[in-house]
Amino acid sequence: MTAKRVGVIGSGQLGRMMALAGTPLDIEFVFYDEATESPSARLGETIQPSTSNSLESFLASVDVVTYESENTDADLVARINKSKPVYPGENSLRRSQHRLVEKNTFRDLGIKTANFLRVTTKDELIKATKELGLPIVLKTTTMGYDGKGQAVVKTDSDIDSAWEALKGNELIAEAFVNFSRELSIIAVRDIQGNTRTYPLAENDHSDGILRVSQVPVTGLSQAKQKEAESYITTLLDHLGHVGVITLELFDTDSGLIANEMAPRVHNSGHWTIEGTASSQFENHVRAICGMPLGSTQARQSNAAMINIIGKHGDREKVLSIPNAFLHTYSKTERKNRKIGHINLIADSKDEIENAITELTEFINECG
Ligand code: AMP
Repeated sequence: MTAKRVGVIGSGQLGRMMALAGTPLDIEFVFYDEATESPSARLGETIQPSTSNSLESFLASVDVVTYESENTDADLVARINKSKPVYPGENSLRRSQHRLVEKNTFRDLGIKTANFLRVTTKDELIKATKELGLPIVLKTTTMGYDGKGQAVVKTDSDIDSAWEALKGNELIAEAFVNFSRELSIIAVRDIQGNTRTYPLAENDHSDGILRVSQVPVTGLSQAKQKEAESYITTLLDHLGHVGVITLELFDTDSGLIANEMAPRVHNSGHWTIEGTASSQFENHVRAICGMPLGSTQARQSNAAMINIIGKHGDREKVLSIPNAFLHTYSKTERKNRKIGHINLIADSKDEIENAITELTEFINECG
């Protein structure tokens, strides 16, 4: 039996894009979030957790539950799972919420990572700098994202400031990876265990925020493509994951190194909306509702995604470019806030590059 009504914990742009993909499949969406004027607001009812019997009402109105963020309360997910299926399951969620657990999972599965050590005292930090070799990246094990809760220790003289910035948290020290670029792979697994992978994307960040994703990754060897697919499929099967998962990778001379996973649809996969036969959002909905998965094949040879950050910018300009697709999130302008994205599809890298050049003003905050 296929589910008809999806409950989403959260009501941001990821839920909105799930609903935009699921509505043609006759799926209805209900959002569980305190905010009511949010990106998903026009796509289904929002139930506010602070209202009485909210969780009961939410669960009574849906067949299956999913979430938008890896910071979703895992205890809430466990509680919900007693009465309604939640996908991705608690196992995927908890493992991606803790960097040490996550990296140990990678290591156990033969997925290469940077060497790492747990750090809870300054002495352990000093020891880690010696054992791992400088530089190291020091991160909080929980609640860190987009480079927040992190410090790079380049020389011994950075140890004090890194410790002062992050002490009081459980920490992970990672050897610094000399990567040439950052990549991600997205895959989906259905309830029966069938999996599909999307082409890898190359991701450009600045100030810890994803700016541009491009597909295909230029010059990526078949061996690396296979390595990434094998990593993510192994991970999906091991976790018993249902829905979309994302694995962020560093590209290095000695192969791909896994950085982190997200048990959800991902910003680096927004290009799949126009770029593939079935987008990450559609396949996530299909998977969690018990429907057959759709094709993850690219529609054209090249695609890109530009995040619209901070300011809406010149929308007319985007709309005037034939192979550009504007996606807005109904969000107000605010510094560093992701408020939309532009997808580009083309038959050549040159066409993509030309469109990116025309849209350069969007790559950093629009003026
Ligand atoms: P994260 O929050 O783990 O995604 O890290 C944010 C960013 O910091 C990544 O996108 C990388 O650019 C950089 N970074 C994280 N870990 C490492 C590492 N071990 N070596 C080098 N750079 C890193």
